[in-house]
This record gives sequence, C-alpha cells and structure tokens, in this order.
Amino acid sequence: MIRSPQFDDIYFSPDDGLAETAHVFLRGNNLPGAWAKARHFTIVETGFGTGLNFLSAWKLFDETACAGAVLDFVSFEKYPLSPGQISEALAQWSGYFGGRLEVLVAAYPLRVNGFHRVHLSAHVRLTLIFDDVNDALPQLDVPRGVNAWFLDGFAPAKNPQMWSDVLFHEMARLSATAATAASFTAAGAVRRGLAAHGFAVTKTRGYGRKRDMTCAVFERARDLPVLPMAQRVAIIGGGLAGTACAYALKRRGVTPVIFDAHGLAQFASGNVRGLYNPRFSQFRTPESDFFSSGYAALAPMNNAWQRCGSLHLVTDDDKRKRFSGMLKNWGWHEDHAQFLDSATASARAGVALDHEALWLPDSGYINPRDLCSVYAADIEVRSDVYEPCNFDAVILANGIGVKDYPGLSDLPIHTVRGQISALASVGAPFVKANICYGGYLSAQNDNGLMAGATFQQWRTDTEVTEEDHQDILNNLYKAVPSLTGLYRVTGGRAALRCAAKDRFPVIGPVIGSGDRGLYVSTAHGSHGLVSTLAGAEYLADLICASPLSLSRATRAALDPGRFQRRALKKGLPAA
Ligand code: SAM
Repeated sequence: MIRSPQFDDIYFSPDDGLAETAHVFLRGNNLPGAWAKARHFTIVETGFGTGLNFLSAWKLFDETACAGAVLDFVSFEKYPLSPGQISEALAQWSGYFGGRLEVLVAAYPLRVNGFHRVHLSAHVRLTLIFDDVNDALPQLDVPRGVNAWFLDGFAPAKNPQMWSDVLFHEMARLSATAATAASFTAAGAVRRGLAAHGFAVTKTRGYGRKRDMTCAVFERARDLPVLPMAQRVAIIGGGLAGTACAYALKRRGVTPVIFDAHGLAQFASGNVRGLYNPRFSQFRTPESDFFSSGYAALAPMNNAWQRCGSLHLVTDDDKRKRFSGMLKNWGWHEDHAQFLDSATASARAGVALDHEALWLPDSGYINPRDLCSVYAADIEVRSDVYEPCNFDAVILANGIGVKDYPGLSDLPIHTVRGQISALASVGAPFVKANICYGGYLSAQNDNGLMAGATFQQWRTDTEVTEEDHQDILNNLYKAVPSLTGLYRVTGGRAALRCAAKDRFPVIGPVIGSGDRGLYVSTAHGSHGLVSTLAGAEYLADLICASPLSLSRATRAALDPGRFQRRALKKGLPAA
C-alpha cells in the first residue's frame, strides 16, 4: 500500500481504491450524466497522487461521452510520485484501465515545478501542475469554466493547509454554472468553506467504512462567453515558432496553414544541431517556470532528439550562485538536475574537466530542421503572401518580421547574430554529453560535433567568418583546457536570432491592432527549442478556449503588451 511520507497517510482505500473513486468522485459529481451532452468538459482535482481518479474519469469518459467531445483534466500535485511508483501502485488495475495506465506513465512529465500539458489521446488532455494548490490555483484560467471538482488531498485533520479559504475562493472564481464538487471528507470546515463561496452542500453516504462524504453544486450563475471552435488558422513563418503552433493546433483538430515564402526551417531554425536547456536563474520566477515547462514539454518529442545529457560547467562565482540557486529554488527533482564533482562530470563527458558541473540528464540535442518537419508533418505550407480571408485566427511567428504588422511596429525586439562551428576531432576523446560554459560543445555523433555560439547584436550579416570560428574554439579551450588544439573546423553557419529587450520571448494575443484573433510568437532568442513548443501550446489554448497551460504570471511575462505597460508605469516611451 503506497503511503505519503509527508502526510503519513494513504493515497486510496485499502479495501478497494477503484470502487472508492467511482463512489466518491465519479458518482459524487453525477458522472457520466453531467457530461452526457457536453462538447467540452473540465474537471479540476486537488492532489493527483497516483492518478487513480484521473484514470477512472478518463476511462468513463471514453466509454460514455458523445463522439468528438473533449475532456480537460487539470490536477495539482505538490509532491509528485515517480512514474515507477505510479505503475507499481496501480499495477493491479492495469488490465482494467485497458492500456491507459501505460500511456499515462509514458507521458508523465518530468518532476519539475510548474504547469505541464500532457496529450493522452485525441480527446483527453491532462494539465498537471506540480505545485502547492494554494499557490497555483490562483494562477489558473479556464475560459469555459470548470464543470466538476474532485476535492482529494489528505484529510483536513492531517493536511489543514490545503483546505484553505484560497481554495474555496478560487473554486468560485473558476466554476461554470452548476459546477459540482465532491470530496471523501465531510469535515465541517470543508462544508462551510464551500457554502460560503456559492455552493449548495449536502452530506451523503461515504464509501466503505466512511460514514459521510460531501457533494456540492455551484449555485451562482456564471456568464461565460459563447466560444465558437476555430476551424482554420493562418501561421506566418515556417521556423520552429510557426511549425510548433501548427503542431499544437493540428492535434486539437484545427486546420493550420503555414505561410512562408522561403519554406520551412530557414534562418535561425535552420541549424543542423541545437542543444536544449533552460536558461538558468538564481530564483524561481515566472520566466524560469516557462523554461521549466518548455524543457519538460520536449520530452515527448523523443523521436526527434538525442538524450545525451548536458553538463553546465561552474566556471565562475556567478554561475555557482545561479546554478546552486536554481537547484535550491526551482523545485526540480534531483532526478532531473544535480551537481557533480569534476571527476564525475569528466566521466559523464568522456573528457577531463577541471570544473564541477550542473548535470541535466534529460537534456540533449535536436536537429531543429528535422524537428520543424516533425511539427509540420501533413500541414499545408504555402509560399504565397497571406491574405486575411477564411481564417479564424492568425499567428505571427516570423521573427523580426512581426514588426511589419499594425500594433507591433513598436515592439522592442532586435536581431542577434549567432555563428556555430562544425568540428572534427584531431585525436580528442569521444564526447558523450553536451558541455556548456556560456558557449557549448555538443556531444559527438557520426557527423562530428558542433560548438557555438556567438552573440553579435551589432552585426546583421550571415556570412560565416574565420574570426568567429577562432573565438568559438578559444572559448572552448579556455573552458576545457584538456581539449586544446584537438579540433579542426569543418564548416559553420551563421543566422540572426530574434530577441526582445528583456531577453524573454513575446507570445500572446495582440491587443489594439484592431484585428481580433491575432496572436504572436517571436523573440525566442537562443532558447527557441525550449520556448517554441510551450508557447505554441499556450496559443492553441487561447485559440481553442481550453484551460491555459501556463500560469498567469508567466503569461504576463510573455505578453506582447508588457513593454507598453512597463513604460506607462514609468511614464516613458515603450521602445
Ligand atoms: N487523487 C489521488 C489518486 O487518484 O491517487 C490521491 C490523492 S492523495 C489522497 C492526496 C494528494 O494530494 C497527495 O498526492 C499529496 O501529495 C497531494 N497534496 C497534499 N497537499 C497538497 C497541496 N497543498 N497542494 C498540492 N497537492 C497536495
């Protein structure tokens, strides 16, 4: 029986967890009756635990919902179990769930704090939020409203913090008309909390040995806008930003069309190898949460990448401060980030390293061009100029070119030239992991290695230069002296990345252009592999009015209007 060390409590009834879930959460919320006619149904749960409630709801939805209906299941978990623990805890019901347990375990996100979107089938989406529900629920937005609440989480006597007024207040903010709630507990504080925030509460018979449980119905009318489903979306730009949007939309049944006169994956997305890593900061911030979500979102794309791990060398005090702060503050499980001493780091790299390193085992490299092709598979790509007709929404994902559109001409974004060097070893040891030090050396494969990259905001040409190759090699040899002189440059590429003044991507709706349904995804800088997919998922949420896959604070940090808002605050011009 699986037990929580934090709460000294069990996850589900030792008699029959499955029957308990069916009684308390499914029947307690009048399921399947409540979703009988729905096109969309949203459930929010407090305490994902083993996923037993989720799997039960998913199975019942598949069996009883109308054809084509979509289930959004949002669940919070402060102490995520590992995929192995979930497999083991639910092994007895693996047959009953008919393959769903295995799908969940395979798609389960990395255990890093923040919002994670998991697509489990064409009709079932899970938004797993690894955080304290009281901190994260105020960060959630559900445009169509929540239809049912599964109030799990350990008993109020053992876990009083979770059953706070914030929880009940947020339930009232997010509930759709006639939303229901059910809980295994009938504690007075829970019933009073619900009643004080607009729910009609009843005590009903509990499961098994439990005498009572709680059922509730939200009695306030909620005037939510009628949101028609988008059918066709135009995407301007065939790089990572645009193709990722096409991918995110297509898997929701929307038809994207990409417009790019140059075809797919030119310019900054056209390198043959790119490393994916978050951008580290000492503290956990809305920006770092975005990098965490984006990094985790790449994991299911594993047909396109090599998971060789990345070593981030601690080459100076600033890096030591940032990396140790990240480990302490970001809330990543040690499975996904840890410090290694220089001997262990050297063994991982296959190269003698003088520095300690932050080790990210899930990191690796991708061919960004191939990734664009994976994203854009079976999607119409047009080389003519986009004409605004027959589309329900438009996404501008064409880098610096977004400035040509009304409402975006003042956006403070610019280009930053970046050159990379292709290397062949001249007697160097085989490099097994990416090595990062400000610059980077990729792990080795049959095509050699890649080193990069330059950051030259002052240059707008894309000619490959000897001088930049030399700088790249010098940086490498300075960070890893044992490799000095052991590489020969065999080629290179230079491109212009697009970046914003505050070095964070610009993703969201364009307000004030007079054009409703206009969205932008640009300024991905040198972290585009990580930021484009999470950004695309968020834009697809906005376009399809599904629960938003990023926190409010992260959305505000990405918002195209942020520069203007900041300037207004200071009384300065935006650009
Ligand atoms: N619904 C789960 C299932 O189907 O397996 C069982 C949930 S278990 C009884 C309660 C869960 O709530 C635990 O996984 C616990 O870590 C989580 N939890 C407790 N307090 C929390 C909080 N403040 N925020 C988020 N999760 C919390």
